[in-house]
Amino acid sequence: MRSRLERVDVTCSGCGYEDEAGCWESVTDGSHIRYRRVCPCCGRSHDVTYRL
Ligand SMILES: [Zn+2]
Repeated sequence: MRSRLERVDVTCSGCGYEDEAGCWESVTDGSHIRYRRVCPCCGRSHDVTYRL
């Protein structure tokens, strides 16, 4: 799980903040898992979805 997330772009597309130690929330619906991170700088949310 962690190695997958390391490949995700951690730079906020809104403000350019690099949230390398970002805390991801995960939500799953059974067939997909979605990670959500909110930029601590500007508050923009980023979602990444993986198929299980
Ligand atoms: Zn930001």
